Amino acid sequence: MLDINAIRQDFPILSKTVYNKPLIYLDNGATTQKPRCVVEKIEHGYYNENANIHRGVHFLSQAATEAHEEARKTVQNFLNARSSNEIIFTRGTTESINLIASSFCDECVSEGDEVIVSVMEHHSNIVPWQIQAAKKGISLKVIPMNEIGELDIEAYKSLFSEKTRLVSVAHVSNVLGTVNPVKEIIEIAHEHNVPVLVDGAQSVPHIPVDVQDLDAEFYVFSGHKIYGPTGIGVLYGKEEWLDKLPPYQGGGEMIATVSFEKTTFNELPFKFEAGTPDYIGSTALAEALRYVNNIGMKEIEAYEHELLRYATEKLSAIEGMRIFGQAREKSGVLSFLVGNIHHYDMGMLLDRLGIAVRTGHHCAQPLMQALGIEGTVRASFSFYNTKEEIDVLAAGIERVRKMF
Ligand code: PLP
Repeated sequence: MLDINAIRQDFPILSKTVYNKPLIYLDNGATTQKPRCVVEKIEHGYYNENANIHRGVHFLSQAATEAHEEARKTVQNFLNARSSNEIIFTRGTTESINLIASSFCDECVSEGDEVIVSVMEHHSNIVPWQIQAAKKGISLKVIPMNEIGELDIEAYKSLFSEKTRLVSVAHVSNVLGTVNPVKEIIEIAHEHNVPVLVDGAQSVPHIPVDVQDLDAEFYVFSGHKIYGPTGIGVLYGKEEWLDKLPPYQGGGEMIATVSFEKTTFNELPFKFEAGTPDYIGSTALAEALRYVNNIGMKEIEAYEHELLRYATEKLSAIEGMRIFGQAREKSGVLSFLVGNIHHYDMGMLLDRLGIAVRTGHHCAQPLMQALGIEGTVRASFSFYNTKEEIDVLAAGIERVRKMF
């Protein structure tokens, strides 16, 4: 059992009031709040260990380098990666996917080749592939879903051809909350000798992830969605794959030697980290991972699952409620519409009650098209949310419904 009251004390922002109402923060899918230890880690870094890393012989530079590399090991352990060389720090999920889209397509695709994505992808797992499609003449194949928001695995199997080069899918949908069967998706891809990238933006903060068990070639996530700072994220890649892909950006750190005649690239992981990395962000992200590990990812998963069950039951009882995404395996995301009330109106009025939810297409316009809607209201949960907050949400929705 989690001591939620004690946990909430770690997040000063949760005691805020907005419009004289206690803040109820249910926009965790967009970004999570930060525990005090993460903010203190940033302050500690700038006050005590701030010097550019990897290049300095002096004390501070070595301390900052050690902290950054220690953070890489923390991420490695968190994901159960085989080696810290397989952990690349990026700016976030979006940059990680762009990195792979660019480097993979430079090395491994030619005109006419195909990349498989799913209908429920975030724009950041669609647009980078479309940019490459326009450059390289490749095409996207899309895994459809059934009416409850689960990917159609039989249809997925039928998308493979001689020209399939990569599969890139979300572990958890940011709109539907569906937990996709990525292990099975990866197994099927491997039967065709096709590598897989998993977008873990909405999974890593909520369910235990073991990249060796999943056997994904690439797995990516954002620090800010797992209680870490903004501007830092992770690309995990199997060493043999990262070794064979070309660098994404050129500059300092990523080179071994440079002359005007010939430049040679640094070894992993530095080959993919051009320029000064966010070495303060990496240590704060590691602190966030330690924080959630102390609570326990299994405990977090179970508690958030119970919150989702409770919220689904409560909200389902509201007249005119339509919940989008009823998959058998779901993570803590509830997307809904009530009667004919516009999602934006619902979000604005809930906000006045102190309830922060997200409205709109959630950067998943193709999914909205598949659902035949423009947008939804989305409540997304964290382990610091409570059933009492869900009661207030349900009462707020009911109040808005009666106004219309
Ligand atoms: N993928 C999914 C499933 C997401 O939910 C998000 C953000 O909401 C992203 C990718 C993009 O993450 P970021 O903006 O942190 O790069």
